Amino acid sequence: MADLKRFFKKTVTQEKPAKAPSVPEGLWVKCPECGEMVYKEDVVSHSYVCPKCGGYFRIKAKTRIRAVVDKDSFEEWFTGIENRNPLDYPGYPDKIKELKERTHLDEAVRIGKARLDGREVVIGAMDSRFLMASMGYVVGEKITRAFEEALRLRLPVILFCCSGGARMQEGMVSLMQMAKTSAAIKRHSKAGLLYVPVLTDPTTGGVTASFAMLGDVILAEPGALIGFAGPRVIQQTIGQKLPEGFQRAEFLVEHGIIDGIVPREQLRRTLSQIVRLHTEACGFDSFPAESPARKIETFGKKKRSKKSGDLSAWDRVLTARSSERPTSLEYIYSIFDDFLELHGDRAFRDDGAVVGGVAFLDGQPVTVIGVQKGRTTKENITRNFGMPSPEGYRKALRLMKQAEKFNRAVIAFIDTPGAFCGLEAEERGQGEAIARNLLEMSDLTVPVLSIVIGEGGSGGALALGVGNEVWMMENSTYTILSPEGFASILWKDSKRAPEAAQVMKVTAAELKELGIIERIIPEEHPAGEDNLDEISEYMKIRMKRFLGKYAGMPGEEIAGQRYERFRGM
Ligand SMILES: [Zn+2]
Repeated sequence: MADLKRFFKKTVTQEKPAKAPSVPEGLWVKCPECGEMVYKEDVVSHSYVCPKCGGYFRIKAKTRIRAVVDKDSFEEWFTGIENRNPLDYPGYPDKIKELKERTHLDEAVRIGKARLDGREVVIGAMDSRFLMASMGYVVGEKITRAFEEALRLRLPVILFCCSGGARMQEGMVSLMQMAKTSAAIKRHSKAGLLYVPVLTDPTTGGVTASFAMLGDVILAEPGALIGFAGPRVIQQTIGQKLPEGFQRAEFLVEHGIIDGIVPREQLRRTLSQIVRLHTEACGFDSFPAESPARKIETFGKKKRSKKSGDLSAWDRVLTARSSERPTSLEYIYSIFDDFLELHGDRAFRDDGAVVGGVAFLDGQPVTVIGVQKGRTTKENITRNFGMPSPEGYRKALRLMKQAEKFNRAVIAFIDTPGAFCGLEAEERGQGEAIARNLLEMSDLTVPVLSIVIGEGGSGGALALGVGNEVWMMENSTYTILSPEGFASILWKDSKRAPEAAQVMKVTAAELKELGIIERIIPEEHPAGEDNLDEISEYMKIRMKRFLGKYAGMPGEEIAGQRYERFRGM
């Protein structure tokens, strides 16, 4: 929160004029942020970012596309669609004609095909110089055709959005473009194809209520104004001053609406990474059923023969809770490559207690999710001590459904004392959120692997634990409730927790014997910074083998197997 506040100070505030000039001809240009005159060539070579203050210049559609795609690879499509004047609005055709001549634009959006690091994509960019990139018939038509053509060619779509909204001069025909573009996106999406909108300053009105918000991954530029109703309208309606940073990109991430913010200089790299993560020989199909595991096998065997100093159940409870234990993100960074964290439940808030995104497991794209604890007080506030709220479970579910769409396996790390127990969590349906995950996870058509790495606290853990297999680390625990709670409910004495831990069968070994889990990940010494690499390597090899088992298996069979697993409990 504090970080966010500091960031807001650096970005544009509501009081700034909404208009930022695009780069005019001439040697010097005025920065829209700091107002300084800066050398145009410096601005251009800094991706149209002010070299003095970091402020963003608005850029032309052509420049946007060129900055991202491979050199000379853009081939423009759908030009020359005739404008209509359904309201016979006086002067409208002349205005369009004049704008076309002045801007050399075909309309407010450019669409075409290009290559991004060698991969073909359909790409488009809106241009605010053309009636504030408002959406009338031609814009709607071009965007619709972009998705139809991308569907035919089975290509991903990238769209740089910026718009004042629907075009008033075309009345209801403009409004209908929202439904038309959304319908085309649905067809493209149902075919398992990727769509990434990049929201730039400003993206408002009907565009945010249609194609701008319908991406698999939604990105934004720092400080971009994004909202359905404009800030001035809201202010007038409610008669209150809006908070600083309201409707800026950072605000949208915090509120769970978009996946993340990407600085302009990193857009090309990030977009390329996203396309790669979604188009690389998808899913779990290319792992051989038998991966080499000899080296780690010894490590595992040595462990089992030693039988780890016979820690008591209570010792393991304490070990599982220890702040020395590696967290989900530490395993994620250690096991996977190119982890791209995605944020938000698209509805209410980005829950810091749940992290998730897409990454490569030895070249194979997978969806990775984890309950995240903090180590310092500050981190624990952000992470809410690893206790997810409903929006955390909903974020996880959103990412799992996305995994299913793209035929990627899901790997979930569980480490939670339990779902957050609080007023707001109940207001937003904590029980419903957990139940929904159990329901939806049960028939995901991709393999799901759940691993308890620390605490597996009750329903809050199970909400990520409906796997085809569930593994536990040797010193992790999985419980119906805390031993303290158990002791206080059954024996009216929470001090008898160590005894309760013994009775409850909470350890990996006991749960494996009960058939609740499939595998124990050995810990020669309790997991910590020193053996993180070793344990990660052990997990990685087992994960690859796990995925290998599902190579070529139809989705229904994968879901069926998961059904039987829990049916037998
Ligand atoms: Zn500046």
